[in-house]
Amino acid sequence: MLDELSRREYLRAIGIDVWVPRDAAASALPGLSPPKEASIDDAVMAGDEWQSLRSAVAQCTACALHAGRTQTVFGVGNPGADWMIIGEAPGAEEDRQGEPFVGRAGKLLDEILASVGLDRNTVFIANILKCRPPGNRDPHADEAAACRGFLERQIALVRPKLILAVGRIAAQQLLQCETPVGRLRGQAHELSGSGIPVVVTYHPAYLLRSPGQKRKVWEDLCLARGLT
Ligand code: URA
Repeated sequence: MLDELSRREYLRAIGIDVWVPRDAAASALPGLSPPKEASIDDAVMAGDEWQSLRSAVAQCTACALHAGRTQTVFGVGNPGADWMIIGEAPGAEEDRQGEPFVGRAGKLLDEILASVGLDRNTVFIANILKCRPPGNRDPHADEAAACRGFLERQIALVRPKLILAVGRIAAQQLLQCETPVGRLRGQAHELSGSGIPVVVTYHPAYLLRSPGQKRKVWEDLCLARGLT
């Protein structure tokens, strides 16, 4: 039997840094086992699953967006994070660098996370779409549908305690509704059938245009903080 320290060193050596017990609410996605501290076998299996998911995303040609991408933007952060941040789709800079939220809006997202003591290495950040829509247009319904399985798998693997949906597209896609962000924010929703709370807030790109709304985002982050 490995002691705790050796176990963590082993996990780190195979590229899996943080494994923490999960509470019941975060593990209720269909097909997920009950919360528990991961065994080494679990960790190796999850590592394999991340690898195969990452490679499925990289090779995806399920919608027309694959033709215009520089690369797919899988997601970044801690695979055992308590918080998952979900945005809309990669922009030009994200398409170039292969990482979500690295442009101006991304810098602001980093500041927003820092305001509640988080950073992009402690949360997991992903988008509704893994490929950049041309001219940063809104995702089409068929594109979001084609990509949805990837995001669902990411959520199932991370098993977050909370999802923060940033912006209208992420919020409406996750909650499968057409309600405006202004009416969705300020309360906790649930990712259907999962028990995972979803807090909705404004997209940082919107905040760059309307800095007066920053206070509301701060309030949403405090609400999210109170749920984890
Ligand atoms: N906006 C998003 O919604 N996602 C990104 O990755 C970048 C900008």
